[in-house]
Amino acid sequence: MSQALQISEEAMTGLEVATRDLRLAEAKRIDHLARGFRALPPGKMPERAYLAEAALIFGCSEHRVKSLLGLALTLSDEYIDTAGLVRDARLTLRHAEVITDAGRVITNITAAGCDDAAIAHPREQQRIAEARRKEYEQAVLPHALELTPNRLAPVAKRLAEQWAVEPIEERQAREAARRRVAVVPLDDGMAELRAYMPAVQAYGLFDHLTRIGKAAKRKTIQAPPIPGVRTTAGSAEPAPELGEAPAADDTRGLDQIRVGALYDLLSRDPFDAAAIASGTSGSGLQGRVQLVVTAEGFEALVTKHGGTVMRDTAYDPGAVKCALKGYGPIGIDSARPLIASQTRWDVVTVCKHTGSVIRTDSYRPNRAQVRFVSARDEHCRHPGCMAPVYRSEIDHTIDAALGGPTATDNLAHLCLMHHILKGESDWTVVQGEGGVLVWTSPTGRTYVERPPDLLPELTSVQADAAAPWPEAGQDRQAANPAQRSHVRFEADDDDQSGSADGNHPF
Ligand SMILES: [Zn+2]
Repeated sequence: MSQALQISEEAMTGLEVATRDLRLAEAKRIDHLARGFRALPPGKMPERAYLAEAALIFGCSEHRVKSLLGLALTLSDEYIDTAGLVRDARLTLRHAEVITDAGRVITNITAAGCDDAAIAHPREQQRIAEARRKEYEQAVLPHALELTPNRLAPVAKRLAEQWAVEPIEERQAREAARRRVAVVPLDDGMAELRAYMPAVQAYGLFDHLTRIGKAAKRKTIQAPPIPGVRTTAGSAEPAPELGEAPAADDTRGLDQIRVGALYDLLSRDPFDAAAIASGTSGSGLQGRVQLVVTAEGFEALVTKHGGTVMRDTAYDPGAVKCALKGYGPIGIDSARPLIASQTRWDVVTVCKHTGSVIRTDSYRPNRAQVRFVSARDEHCRHPGCMAPVYRSEIDHTIDAALGGPTATDNLAHLCLMHHILKGESDWTVVQGEGGVLVWTSPTGRTYVERPPDLLPELTSVQADAAAPWPEAGQDRQAANPAQRSHVRFEADDDDQSGSADGNHPF
């Protein structure tokens, strides 16, 4: 072993020990915080006095201490197993926060959707909420142990939704009525322009800005169709450039270009007054988003003459009909205009038992492998990386020059940074069945990286299959997403010729 590698190895071991110590200390800290809080005399004042001092010792704001206290109480009262894993340093506080935040949709037991008997008896309500929470916790923990908090968040949301008291469709319909744009004044001559809007729109717009920004940076900018501006087909007139006019040597970062593009797009005239007046604006979303829908959701989306989506008002544990990748469950109504606005989609059928992709159907037969691998990977496949597939490249796990075949079990998406890391550092990777990658670091540690749909759901189902549902008559099997077939919508990018590796100009 070279000296450099040996020092590197020692550093990694040191990091592991220190990280474990930190996690243990973090867990101990919130335990102390909760214990002291529980012993306080009743009243608001003792509580405030306690938190003020705790904030001084923590060296953070009272607001942060309050949220840590909330987490500590929730963990010890409602998420016992999660608390145990935090205490054992196997999960971080951030994981615990993601789990309990997503679980909030379960606790609101008095909301619409639960049965009358439960509403009549507070104690019964509490019992049902506890049972649902427990089911959710058992389902989410295997994921938490494998995923970084960022990757866990959408998974946790999707799982929690199955035990939610009020379905996402109803919650989103209510919240959508509160949509708004606001200006928040900040310091140093700056302000924030915020829009509270359906997640599909927000993610789509952000993706649109990102692609404009990336193209501007690569100097390959060709103005995409501008929302609200109808260009005549076959027009020879060059499209105007977007964003601030890029200087010869553009040193702006992606964030800065996004702001330029946002400003430019929003200040363009003429806007489509008719669309805005009729409330149909926004249906021609330019950015790319990915939706995963169940068979039931698929029916609801493609039914052209559909009205509202029919849904049982009774508690339905298998209720996640539509999820936005990278975000989590969304109301299916908010996805419908998006589907209607696109002319081409990939429909990906996923195995209902393993979650792996078994078939891709599209209106054009080419690029089948790209479709397959894009559907399987969803993001860069270096452990923890969330760069989406359309900002990643398809890498031959075993280099084609070394005889690696161009086959789906030898292809995986890597973002540019991790592509370079794989090619030019001592990180190595082996691909196994189902697209599972096993990464080995320069110091010899291995990290298993599964495609997003191949998480250990089946194991958890088998482990707790004996546990009964809180209510009789519920189909236990239907509750687990791994047991339900689902299909995925994905915008077709075929019109980007010369981008067969998924590296699109936009
Ligand atoms: Zn990456």
